[in-house]
Amino acid sequence: MPKAPQIPNLKPAVVASAPRASTTARGYGHAHRQQRARLLKRHPLCQRCEADWSAHLHHIDRDPHNRADANVELLCERCHRAEHGR
Ligand SMILES: [Zn+2]
Ligand SMILES: [Zn+2]
Repeated sequence: MPKAPQIPNLKPAVVASAPRASTTARGYGHAHRQQRARLLKRHPLCQRCEADWSAHLHHIDRDPHNRADANVELLCERCHRAEHGR
């Protein structure tokens, strides 16, 4: 029997390389991230003020399960907060 290969301790490199795990960290899966990445290419800047990066995916009808492209808007943190009255 050949010796089992030594597996080095895996460092959490994926966690370290993620810029920010705020809204995407919980409750959103793979499909959400894929759509976000796709839309980010189309709208790298906030769709409202175009002055900041579109870091937030806003659901226009406030239903996070409605992932139609027409229902999502890419907003910067400021515009997104304003939209939700916070
Ligand atoms: Zn904005
Ligand atoms: Zn929102």
